[in-house]
Amino acid sequence: MLRPRAAVPVMVALVGAIMVACAYQIGDNPSNEPGAQDATTQDENGRAVAPGVVRERERTPSPTPLPRDSEGNVILPCNDILVPVDKEHRLPADCTPAELVALPAYAVNEPQYLTPQAADAFMVMAGEAEALGLEFYAASSYRSYWEQADIFASNVEQHGFEEASRRSAQAGHSEHQLGTTTDVVTPPTWSLSGFYGTPEAEWLANNAWRYGFIVSYPPDSEHITGYIYEPWHIRYVGPEVANAVHHSGLTLGEYLHAIWW
Ligand SMILES: [Zn+2]
Repeated sequence: MLRPRAAVPVMVALVGAIMVACAYQIGDNPSNEPGAQDATTQDENGRAVAPGVVRERERTPSPTPLPRDSEGNVILPCNDILVPVDKEHRLPADCTPAELVALPAYAVNEPQYLTPQAADAFMVMAGEAEALGLEFYAASSYRSYWEQADIFASNVEQHGFEEASRRSAQAGHSEHQLGTTTDVVTPPTWSLSGFYGTPEAEWLANNAWRYGFIVSYPPDSEHITGYIYEPWHIRYVGPEVANAVHHSGLTLGEYLHAIWW
C-alpha cells in the first residue's frame, strides 16, 4: 500500500495522464468544446475561423479513422451531439438518442421528441421569443432512420432524386436522427416554405445560438452544405459551441468538420 506522501505525486501523475488522454478525444467532452470567442484567426483560404477550431486542429493531429460503409460514407459514432452529419457522413441505422422527451403540447402541432437538453433549450428559446411577440413551434423533430428513409423516398417520387437531395437527407444522413434537431413553423402558414422571410426566421438566425441552436443550412450556402436555405431547421450543439459557430462565419458543418478532422 502506498504511504500518503507517495500517493500524492502518483495521484497528480494519474490525473495529468487522464487529462492528456481526454484532450485527444474528440467531441465527447463538453469541457473540451471550443470556447466562445470572436473570430480573430483566418484559415488557409483567408476565411475567419474561431480560435477554438484552430486549437482543436492542433490537438488532434491523427484522429482514429472512422469506419466506412460499402458506398464510401463515413459511419459516425452514435450519441455524440457534435458529429458532422452530412451527405458523406452518416449515423448507423440503429442509432437512436439515449433519451427522448416529448415537447409540451403547446409547443407542437403533433407529438414531437427531442433529447432532454435540446427540449429544455428549445422551450426557453420559444418562451423568450414569445415574450417579444414571436411565435414558432416544433413541426418535425426527432426522426428515426426508417422515418427518414420514407421521407426521402416520398420526395424522390414527387421531385426526382436530384431535387429531393437538395431538400431532404437520405436515411442516416439526417440531423433529425440525432434527436437534437427540429424544424419550426409559424402561423398563419404553419408550413416550412411559409417560414421564409418571417420575423421568426430572422430572429432565429440572429439569436438561436444564444440558446445553443444553429440554423444548419443558411442562405447562399448550398455549395457548401448541399442543401437549400432552410431557415426552419435548427440543431442544438450547446451554447458554447453555438456561440463559436455563430461568430466563426462558418456553416455548422464546416465548423464540426474542423473539430473532427
Ligand atoms: Zn429539418
